[in-house]
Amino acid sequence: MSDCGCSSIPTQNLKSIDDALELMLSQAKSVTEIEMVDLSDALGRVLAQPVASQVNVPPWDNSAMDGYAVNTADLNGSGSRLRVSQRIPAGATGTQLEPGTVARIFTGAPVPPGANAVVIQEVCEAEGDWVTINDEVKEGANIRLAGEDSKEGQQILAPGVRLGPQHLGLAASVGVAQLPVYRKLQVALFSSGDELVMPGNALGPGQIYNSNQFTLTGLLEKLGCDVTNLGIVEDTFDATCDALARGAKQADLVLASGGVSVGEEDHVKPAVEKLGSLDLWKIAIRPGKPLAFGHIDGTPFIGTPGNPVSLFVTFCVFARPFILKSQGMSEGLLPTPITATADFDWPKPDKRREFARAQLNLDANGQAQVSLFSSRSSGVISSVAWANGLAVIAENQVIAKGDSVQFWPFNELLQ
Ligand code: AMP
Ligand code: MG
Repeated sequence: MSDCGCSSIPTQNLKSIDDALELMLSQAKSVTEIEMVDLSDALGRVLAQPVASQVNVPPWDNSAMDGYAVNTADLNGSGSRLRVSQRIPAGATGTQLEPGTVARIFTGAPVPPGANAVVIQEVCEAEGDWVTINDEVKEGANIRLAGEDSKEGQQILAPGVRLGPQHLGLAASVGVAQLPVYRKLQVALFSSGDELVMPGNALGPGQIYNSNQFTLTGLLEKLGCDVTNLGIVEDTFDATCDALARGAKQADLVLASGGVSVGEEDHVKPAVEKLGSLDLWKIAIRPGKPLAFGHIDGTPFIGTPGNPVSLFVTFCVFARPFILKSQGMSEGLLPTPITATADFDWPKPDKRREFARAQLNLDANGQAQVSLFSSRSSGVISSVAWANGLAVIAENQVIAKGDSVQFWPFNELLQ
């Protein structure tokens, strides 16, 4: 395994991930403006107010199966033969069940008054207007009760939830056509670096393609942010100040990649300090480089390292929960780790928590196994594309193949 390229950072004076995150989250202010959106536009938005049901769902007792609605008092054990007195398809309403008869009924149709069970058609033998029921029938069988899903007046959705397809379906089931959601978070981003060129152009000497812009934009769009791209910003103090000021003016959050170290070519620190206030931390994280967090005229700023893997990891660990909270989410700011079996050895403990690019796969016995990418380099973006999650290796942890390891799946981090 090659080294991650950050071993030169002394481990003393490192801020813990938990302390840095706690401080950032304590300063994350939720968007307050609320807008009503149609259900068809609400996917991925964060609900701002509770939603209550106006109706019972289902509105009336109805049949869970195709079959016959009966009154169990009319049956005399298995083999009872009764006349079919009415037919009730879904969308129709029946009438009072004539005593001593049954009603042909279909899934979703209201159970007629007088019936107290539905017998599935598979145990019935029909001949003309008569049916023989070849089974014992319990009162209440195959009846879905009025309000068993949602009750009139009951809260069905709590504020702070990111609306998924299931929430939209639930809202629709109670007849709600629009939902109150927080307005979208506006995020301005720029990429620092004189070496950067946009894909589609030829590379000159010393140049590389700007990949971070696309990684960051994708991460932000996945979270439902409105992204304004301020482009590539040259490595000068004035250009950095200008980008920061423009971003802070138009957005709720400014995100930058690169230029956050304290080298001669790194202008983010002095620029943010001139325009506002900044904390620049060396954090006990691998891959990890300094992370910048500050404010410009009240607008928060997060500066991530330029190395593509460091950028991805620091976004997932710090920027993502900060954004979720700013969007109005109240729960699930951090992913729920999966505990799986390590398919690797990790013999050297480290004071820093490692977020290793990893794959979770099932072995031949169906057991979840975590394996690692071959390189730990923070510059190798192929590792992120290869992975389906991050193995989280705790501070000072040693792992032998077969031990448990924590895993953050991308399908949660990147949704
Ligand atoms: P920096 O954080 O500016 O010192 O950059 C660290 C490393 O990341 C350098 O090798 C940069 O060339 C690289 N880098 C910085 N910005 C980007 C970017 N937008 N896309 C790809 N690589 C970058
Ligand atoms: Mg740079």
